[in-house]
Amino acid sequence: MKKYDLVIIGAGTSGAYLAREIAKRGHSVLVIEKNSRDKTGSKYDIFHIEEREFARLGLPRPVEGDIEWAFEFEKNFIADPRCLYAKLQTNHVVGLHLHEYTLLMNDRAIEAGAQIEYEAEFVSLTFDKAGRINGVKYIQGGEEKTAQARITADCSGITAAARTTLPDGSGIEKYSLGDEDMFYVILRYVKLKNKEDYLDGSTFWANYKAWIAPCADPGGAIIGIGACHSFEYAERMYAEMEKTVPLPEYELVKVEMGRTPYTRNMHSLVADNFIVSGDAGCLTKSVNGEGVTSSIYMLKIAAAAIDRAFKIGDTSKYALWRINREYNSTQGAEFAMLRAMLVGVINAVSFEEFEYVFKSGLISDELLNALTGASVPPKALLKAFGAFVSGIGKKEISKATVKACVNSLKNAAEIMIHYKNYPETPEGFEEWCAKADRLYERIGKIK
Ligand SMILES: Cc1cc2nc3c(=O)[nH]c(=O)nc-3n(C[C@H](O)[C@H](O)[C@H](O)COP(=O)(O)OP(=O)(O)OC[C@H]3O[C@@H](n4cnc5c(N)ncnc54)[C@H](O)[C@@H]3O)c2cc1C
Repeated sequence: MKKYDLVIIGAGTSGAYLAREIAKRGHSVLVIEKNSRDKTGSKYDIFHIEEREFARLGLPRPVEGDIEWAFEFEKNFIADPRCLYAKLQTNHVVGLHLHEYTLLMNDRAIEAGAQIEYEAEFVSLTFDKAGRINGVKYIQGGEEKTAQARITADCSGITAAARTTLPDGSGIEKYSLGDEDMFYVILRYVKLKNKEDYLDGSTFWANYKAWIAPCADPGGAIIGIGACHSFEYAERMYAEMEKTVPLPEYELVKVEMGRTPYTRNMHSLVADNFIVSGDAGCLTKSVNGEGVTSSIYMLKIAAAAIDRAFKIGDTSKYALWRINREYNSTQGAEFAMLRAMLVGVINAVSFEEFEYVFKSGLISDELLNALTGASVPPKALLKAFGAFVSGIGKKEISKATVKACVNSLKNAAEIMIHYKNYPETPEGFEEWCAKADRLYERIGKIK
């Protein structure tokens, strides 16, 4: 049996990033990946990374001509249901091929000293005599193998192969995601019929959770939609969207479908000798279900904590707890706050109210740019407040919607404060979870 400091399940972007970070600090790392190398990272083709994230997270930045690079753009329109009053957010986004980028990250992990075994499928966790996790059993080439590890990391994606088999009482929730916890995403890769419709940016329709964005072909586009419940429901929403949104004329080239977690992250991401990250820990953004960089943000914290745990010879949940504390009190708090606001507002606002919000200036270019880090000019805030009050006066916004928006703001503030006060140690964790669950009960789920 081989022994490693760290065994990682899954060589997607999360597993590959963690493998490199730990190997480059001089620790031994094994990654087991159920797919062959030429299938790894091929669950769909194009994904987006905001340009500023490459430097922030220390990620390789492909440029035009590299096989990973597909396109980039800066204009992001956010639009009302009929696309009459679209607002512009400037945010530099890079489109990449997921398979090629995942392999680039795999190769960087190998370069740093990590070992990746492909076509190696996780079977079960293994335990020492005291009942502590001490590695994995996996199948490769029809042969059952065992790898021992001081820490095991589940980066196996949405199915959470190891997290869902944890022993009771580990501290990490072991449930599998249900239909209300995921976004069913359908991507239509299309060829645009008319040159004047060629895209130089993306447009997002929040009420339909749908968008159109560039693809690798400059004469093409990707029309995407995401919805909870099922792919059938997402298709029904797409048909609804087609009734109001003036989409450009297109020919369908191919359709891709996939699921991404659309729910809060696991309350705890660490147990004795174990961590969970990526889609397996539900670390996707609450705004759109994207999860590559949001998981890597958590893994940057985790890599420092794991390195320290190895150095002090303590890999218990106590030693790893700072991952929970640092993640949840920063990005975790921000995502929880945004989730509460979005669920409340999107579930409450009607088609007509959506249109009013855009027409009246309640949402403006300045406010949208503030979401990408620019400061909000007080004038824009005043204008938004004025539009809101006037909307209530003119009955453009119903009392029920006002109530729902006020409640969602209250919920957002309360949950953010709760995450900011995430316990410093495992003591107090159960009470923290009980209050978080009560708050989420109140917040509800997106319809
Ligand atoms: C259609 C669609 C579009 C998206 N677009 C974006 C986007 O534009 N930007 C963005 O940031 N995010 C996007 N996301 C979300 C993003 O794809 C995920 O959040 C991200 O890929 C998660 O990475 P991961 O490494 O955690 O999991 P994965 O990429 O799923 O990797 C998990 C790996 O584990 C392996 N594995 C699974 N089970 C086992 C097992 N039993 N044994 C061994 N190995 C196993 C899998 O084969 C896989 O290679 C999108 C999602 C979908 C569905």
